[in-house]
Amino acid sequence: MPEQKQVTVVGAGWAGLGAAYHLTQQGYKVTLLEAGSYPGGLVAGWKTPNGNSVEGGIHGFWYPYQNIFALVRELGLNPFTSFTRSCQYSPAGVEVESPIFQDLPKLPTPLGTFIYTKFKRLPLIDRLSALPLLYTLVDFDNSDQAWRRYDKITARELFKDFGVSARLYKEAFEPMLLVGLFAPGEMCSAAAALGMLYYFILAHQPNFDVVWCRGTVGQKIFKPLVERIEKAGGRVLTNRRVQDIIVDHDGKATGIVAENEVFYSDAVVFAVSVNGIKKILSSSPTLQSCQEFSNLNNLGGIDVLATRLWFDRKIQTRHPSNACFGFNPTTGWTFFDLNRLQDEYYDLPGSVIEADFYHANQFLYLSDEEIISIVKRDLATCLPEFHKAKVIDSSIIRVAGGVTHFAPGSYQYMLPARTSIENVFMSGDWIVNNHGSWSQEKAYVTGLEAANLVIDYFGHGSKAKIIAVEPDEPHIQWARSINATVRDFSKNFLPGFWLP
Ligand SMILES: Cc1cc2nc3c(=O)[nH]c(=O)nc-3n(C[C@H](O)[C@H](O)[C@H](O)COP(=O)(O)OP(=O)(O)OC[C@H]3O[C@@H](n4cnc5c(N)ncnc54)[C@H](O)[C@@H]3O)c2cc1C
Repeated sequence: MPEQKQVTVVGAGWAGLGAAYHLTQQGYKVTLLEAGSYPGGLVAGWKTPNGNSVEGGIHGFWYPYQNIFALVRELGLNPFTSFTRSCQYSPAGVEVESPIFQDLPKLPTPLGTFIYTKFKRLPLIDRLSALPLLYTLVDFDNSDQAWRRYDKITARELFKDFGVSARLYKEAFEPMLLVGLFAPGEMCSAAAALGMLYYFILAHQPNFDVVWCRGTVGQKIFKPLVERIEKAGGRVLTNRRVQDIIVDHDGKATGIVAENEVFYSDAVVFAVSVNGIKKILSSSPTLQSCQEFSNLNNLGGIDVLATRLWFDRKIQTRHPSNACFGFNPTTGWTFFDLNRLQDEYYDLPGSVIEADFYHANQFLYLSDEEIISIVKRDLATCLPEFHKAKVIDSSIIRVAGGVTHFAPGSYQYMLPARTSIENVFMSGDWIVNNHGSWSQEKAYVTGLEAANLVIDYFGHGSKAKIIAVEPDEPHIQWARSINATVRDFSKNFLPGFWLP
């Protein structure tokens, strides 16, 4: 590049780190500004003063996270466990056990998921009530039109309208929404529910298979990633909260203001959460004057709680990763046996359990002691041996409004990667794109997509190779194309009279 272009990336989660990494490799001068004390965003990990590793929730890496797996290979890292089985508990005990789907004979989707998942109590008749929903699987093809058709209804309404039994909804779909979209069905967009369920569970039989990091993601992945960014000349600056953006008379961004310091910029990539961008908006008259940014005040975040408890004895768990439902009406939770997942804890004499709560609004203002006693009580409901165990150390992390709320009607306000400021690009797990991935993989992919837009803008560098999600299976492709033909045909003679 004749003159090295300066790109400022705001936010050092998966999206920001992904954008910064690719741009530094392409010769851009990158400054990554992070408000927190550590890079990693929601996936950040750090050590407590007494030397224990903690993080803001345990993160799974599902089978289709092919871009993250490719990055980890490129960095020469080996951070993951092998694929693990999982279990689902209610206060009545074990409800569901999942196998490792890729090890079983492959069946056309969604047969494998229905046949191989072991439901301990849910009667067959309830499971069969999901059949009419197969139509939505075909009809929701992740296109903009499909999002607009399904986004304004709640997931609960969708399942109700398609005849899903009350028990199947309460014991299977709602628990999946609580851990996948962090909210109960009446608070989730039906479009988001369908997109998330398809990506993680239904698109291909092995999609629900998951691996975990054998330590904090911060230590195992982000530390070497940040080292690569810095080695290529990038700067990763923590404790730099961005407050404003400077735009010149031509409407181009020229700088970013963080903690009263101005960072000169030829282009900007925002990689912050919904709550993060809303805070920047509140202090930025420039962004407030752009309609698409002021519309972001219609979006919201969800509270989560990440707890880690050290026990005085080892308790045997059935599977290392477990999801739980039915303990609170609108909160889902998961627990992980870290002695079986993370190198640091393999040989400890006592159990180390991470329990994460999603849509945890009512817990956020409880004291640490109150939270610990709830976690211990609920763990003991699943595994009675926890009654006798004593908590000898703990970490409680409250993430207020931290995760994206895919609320009904929110899609219309979410932003694509391009903005009305031509050299400002957006990334993060809430940005509208066509890739089809979710959560960490989506955040990373949107970071690469934003980097590619910067490359397009300056006409310099090679674009990041983004691995597409595996194509739909042939019978789904066939059903989708028939469905699209019928839809297009009916548009010709039915007036646009009804709500979509
Ligand atoms: C408890 C929990 C469990 C989860 N489990 C999983 C899982 O198992 N698998 C999975 O794939 N995903 C999971 N997720 C979701 C996953 O963490 C997110 O989808 C992903 O990390 C989002 O990355 P991001 O880069 O878009 O945003 P974030 O990680 O939110 O990063 C945004 C960054 O921007 C910074 N920032 C905000 N405002 C400013 C500002 N003004 N100036 C500078 N910096 C700013 C923030 O500090 C943050 O570091 C989980 C989330 C939580 C909370």
